[in-house]
Amino acid sequence: MLVQTMKRRPFGPSGVSVAVIGEGTWNMEGDDRASAIVSIRTALDLGATHIDTAEMYGQGQVERLVGEAIAGRRAEAFLVSKVLPTNASRHGTVAACERSLKRLGTDYLDCYLLHWPGSHPLEETIRAFTELEQAGKIRSFGVSNFDESELRKAVRIAGKGRIAQNQVLYHLGERRIEHEVIPYCEEEGIAVVAYSPFGSGDFPSERDDGGRALSAIATAHGVTSYQVALAFLTRQKHVFAIPKAATPAHVEDNVRAADLVLTDSDLAAIEKAFPRGPRRRGVPML
Ligand code: NAP
Repeated sequence: MLVQTMKRRPFGPSGVSVAVIGEGTWNMEGDDRASAIVSIRTALDLGATHIDTAEMYGQGQVERLVGEAIAGRRAEAFLVSKVLPTNASRHGTVAACERSLKRLGTDYLDCYLLHWPGSHPLEETIRAFTELEQAGKIRSFGVSNFDESELRKAVRIAGKGRIAQNQVLYHLGERRIEHEVIPYCEEEGIAVVAYSPFGSGDFPSERDDGGRALSAIATAHGVTSYQVALAFLTRQKHVFAIPKAATPAHVEDNVRAADLVLTDSDLAAIEKAFPRGPRRRGVPML
């Protein structure tokens, strides 16, 4: 087994130290259950302790699976879950959080997120987050799939230094958040958490120029193209990534990526193969 000290960095305004590479869990209900559980435990073993889940995933099945994986090891994890926008009224958010805690077998979350902007007033959701925080049921709160203007509104409502993270789609083929979301988060000290860092199953293929460029960099460093992608995304000091891996060997690969330092010429080759693209309104989401 790889012995690893995972690179960590201050996360959000509280500055709590969190692993740069974590473990996503979307769609794990469809994976081999034993392998998924071993993968989450491997992530904890190797210091990839930022475990991301949501009430939506498998309609609660994934939170139960995560609960089983972290049983007896709760304190090691930086555990994040999300409320569905349809549940995000003041009372609905509190009730959803309590259901998530029960499924996860814990009495607190390290961070609780609004999964994406919805129709319940954001003031209500944030009020519920504050109540949950005061009750000790969550240690921090944040948002997901928020663009810069939605984030500004969240900061106005919650107050400065209150929004811990914005979890957003970010991979080599989708770099839109680099224009406005990342700079604004950096200004406000909000952690940016890159979801679907491998394009959620649409990773650059070696049949394409981009895939070949990645592969050349990977070969030069003796690593995989997936590791190069993670190193590129997390090169910025406010950015964390939560690749989903239900295969323990993939978890080990992802953890190793935290130590990979890309050279200026690697970065230039990636910029050329995967350009940032034009500034556009909104954030892309899956
Ligand atoms: P992803 O992480 O981009 O890709 C997952 C795929 O990559 C899986 O098929 C996985 O295979 C494979 N993989 C993982 N590590 C690998 C490696 N080292 N080498 C080769 N293949 C590897 O996909 P995602 O699940 O869409 O995104 C990650 C997490 O972000 C989610 O699980 C979820 O927690 C979060 N997310 C959040 C939102 C949101 O709206 N907030 C939306 C989407 C995702 P195995 O599983 O077989 O290991």
